[in-house]
Amino acid sequence: MRHRIIIHFGELTLKGQNRREFVKKLRQNVRKKLQAMGFGADSGWDVVAIHDRMFVEVPEDYQTDIETVLQAIAEIPGIAWLTHVYWFSAKQYDLFHPQPDLTFIDQLVEKLGQETYHEGASFAVRVKRADKRFAMGSKALEKRLATVLLKNTPWKTVNLKHADQFFYVEISSRGLAVFTNRIKGAGGLPVSSTGRVLTLLSGGFDSPVAAWLMARRGCNIDLIHFTANHVRAHDLESYKVSRIARRLSEIAGKVRLIMVPYTHFDLALMDKGLDYDLMLFRRFMARVAARVADELHAQALVTGDNLGQVASQTLENIVSMTKAIDYPILRPLLAYDKDEIIAHSQRLGLFEICKEPYKDCCALISNNPKTRTYHDRLQAVEERFFPEYQELVQQTLDERQQLTYVFGQRHMPRQPQPAEPEPIHSAKP
Ligand code: ATP
Ligand code: MG
Repeated sequence: MRHRIIIHFGELTLKGQNRREFVKKLRQNVRKKLQAMGFGADSGWDVVAIHDRMFVEVPEDYQTDIETVLQAIAEIPGIAWLTHVYWFSAKQYDLFHPQPDLTFIDQLVEKLGQETYHEGASFAVRVKRADKRFAMGSKALEKRLATVLLKNTPWKTVNLKHADQFFYVEISSRGLAVFTNRIKGAGGLPVSSTGRVLTLLSGGFDSPVAAWLMARRGCNIDLIHFTANHVRAHDLESYKVSRIARRLSEIAGKVRLIMVPYTHFDLALMDKGLDYDLMLFRRFMARVAARVADELHAQALVTGDNLGQVASQTLENIVSMTKAIDYPILRPLLAYDKDEIIAHSQRLGLFEICKEPYKDCCALISNNPKTRTYHDRLQAVEERFFPEYQELVQQTLDERQQLTYVFGQRHMPRQPQPAEPEPIHSAKP
């Protein structure tokens, strides 16, 4: 018997021409994620795409809990559902013998019955026989396996239509597969199939969820964070925002986190007594982020803005941030309720990190933000009070630091190679 993980694409099947490309991306993402977990193709974890699905071949000498691998794959965008399959090859088990020995199926179904039993639940057995060379009819096999479960396990109630627990057997010309309930995947589209975005990441709950939503729609996500102070190199990885980036990368693959200090702008703002400080700062963030996005070839910025969630998130303020730059700003959470955002954050394992106390700059800068601002007015203030605006942007960019994660692993930039010594040519006569 072999173990396999069968992956179904869901939405991908709708994509006609692009489908091949999407399947290729998804396969790459699954392979890279497995590799990052230590299950590379070189150790026998093969990922194979067939016409309407994909499967992961678990090596015979695997040494891990397959459930953990299943849960990890389920997070990858582009997967509708997946399931752990027990696979018996037709040849090895002599499936098409006129009187095949089926005790191996009885034993497996009994074991799965013991493992999945829960009090008060009902079950059903479903058999699909695609290759009629298999001697036993599907109804007869369903009956046989249901009897095994009723006799040898605590299962008592059969419900053919609306069972809580299904036991499936599928027989094809190549072999026989046994599996139980499917696991729901993340849905959406494979990362790297729709574009690249740069998310303004704060230490709060919203922006990480916004970044994840874009990754689930197939975008590569990079992140930019404005810090209150310069973070020392050896503190970078343990920093709250870095841990958020790392967790996001476990789902979204390669994620670059750019950190810039906002001190230059903060100092310039000080003593000016302007009562627009929050929105002036937001516009500054947008301008710095747009410069970084341009360098990273990101097509749009993303924020975790949510209409009306806090006093500063009025439509007027959102518009006056948008008008500060030419770059489009996407706000996937704009129309969400807070409890929906929190539910996502919890399910994604981000909540525990995001709830740690953290002094974000927007909280530091303004306790009493203006609720309605307008682009023209803000622009006039910027021109009058910040003649050195471009230098502030440049100084901020000059102090940037970068961390790169690939499926949860820190990726170190390649060290520049020492220059080769110049060859000494002997002078030609
Ligand atoms: P979040 O939970 O993401 O912090 P929020 O509801 O607390 O969102 P604000 O703190 O007002 O809202 O920030 C709105 C958005 O501005 C954030 O979602 C994020 O995209 C961006 N932002 C805020 N602070 C920072 C920061 N320090 N660095 C980068 N982006 C930021
Ligand atoms: Mg915040």
